[in-house]
Amino acid sequence: MQDIRWKAFWLLISWAFCCLILGWVTSAETAWLAYVVGVIAYLAGHLYWMQRLYLWSLKPGLNFMPNGKGIWEDIFANLYQEMRRHSRSQSQLSSTLERLRHATSALPDGVVVLNHRNEIEWFNEPAVQRLGLKRQHDENQPIYYLLRQAEFVQYLQSEDYSEPLKLKSWRSPDVTLELQIIPFASKQRLLICRDISAIEKTEIMRRDFIANVSHELRTPLTVVGGFLETISDMQGEVSPDIQPYFDMMQSQTTRMRRIIEDLLTLSSLENNVVLKDETDIAMEPLLNQLLKDARALSLGDHTVTLHMDAKVNIRGSYNELLSAMSNLTSNAVRYTPANGNIDIFWQMQDEQVIFSVQDTGIGIEPQHLPRLTERFYRVDSGRSRDTGGTGLGLSIVKHILHHHQAILKVESEPGKGSRFSIVFPAQRVLVA
Ligand code: ADP
Repeated sequence: MQDIRWKAFWLLISWAFCCLILGWVTSAETAWLAYVVGVIAYLAGHLYWMQRLYLWSLKPGLNFMPNGKGIWEDIFANLYQEMRRHSRSQSQLSSTLERLRHATSALPDGVVVLNHRNEIEWFNEPAVQRLGLKRQHDENQPIYYLLRQAEFVQYLQSEDYSEPLKLKSWRSPDVTLELQIIPFASKQRLLICRDISAIEKTEIMRRDFIANVSHELRTPLTVVGGFLETISDMQGEVSPDIQPYFDMMQSQTTRMRRIIEDLLTLSSLENNVVLKDETDIAMEPLLNQLLKDARALSLGDHTVTLHMDAKVNIRGSYNELLSAMSNLTSNAVRYTPANGNIDIFWQMQDEQVIFSVQDTGIGIEPQHLPRLTERFYRVDSGRSRDTGGTGLGLSIVKHILHHHQAILKVESEPGKGSRFSIVFPAQRVLVA
């Protein structure tokens, strides 16, 4: 790279030197005149190319680029190279963009690009079909003008897009849509819309099937259980040799009945996504009831204590919460060997209120923790069965907590004990 200031300096110095020689040969006036004319010609040349550059910049184009002379030749050559590079990358970019648009249009899911004001910038063909967007007409419109459902507007404003939103289509009631917002770049958002009607139908079929089978099995099991009870009550009439078989049949029937009851509870929890019997729950009597039940189940084998530190109540379903909390206390009793301690806590943490059950029981290995709330997942199935477990308790707890926007936290150390906590969000807390 050359310094054009030096170039201009040396040019003017050389011209001054030439004029000095001219002045020596002729006269000083001639030399001055020649020098001034030279400098004016030099400036005029620059002005001329500057004007050409200015005219070109008004309508730039590779074909209209002037050639230039002297230093201007280099300037125009550099500009030409830069323009060519720019136009090459521009065309590469637009062909990539075009390919991307083709690819996005070929996606089965609807894709809508939103700007930072939630206005529609672009959408693909499936978005037209699924969301009923219209080309030209809906571009640049805020998305909440077109998708007006309260759930969607709430989801959009929540800024928490970790979970997708399930929505019945407003265009056809048979269609269920799953909407997911993905933030990208600076404050832009992608709205992905998926038709999950088929998955939803299969899920409903699965739920109905389990509910129907459980329901159908309940009656015959009740009959069999009743007969077995009657037979085992007939003391002396049953041969002592077969009595143990009757006892075994009876305990297995009771276990099956328990599983069926839990399956029916799970089905009804899954079918009712919103809480129906929501009330203000007085926590003190509920916690005392839990304490009494836990002591009764323990039969004096454990020290069960209630620590009611928070003086707050919560809003929710009494029956559901009693069932979730007593699941945790009964697990603590069942998985803690005799002479262990079980502590029930009701505490505030910031704005949230936490119900926790801590035991000094067998504990759980860390690899099992993420799977505990799966249906029929047991760390030790033998122990679960022996203590009357169905493997569905924590799954029921999970569904109940989902209804209450609460979360389950499990901390455990094998051989030392476990702490199961239910964290209720601030909006559920009522000052007692
Ligand atoms: P179950 O009816 O088998 O107890 P749950 O769904 O209530 O089913 O619990 C799932 C599994 O989690 C249990 O089988 C047990 O292995 C483990 N578990 C639950 N609570 C405790 C606890 N307090 N201490 C140790 N293990 C526990």
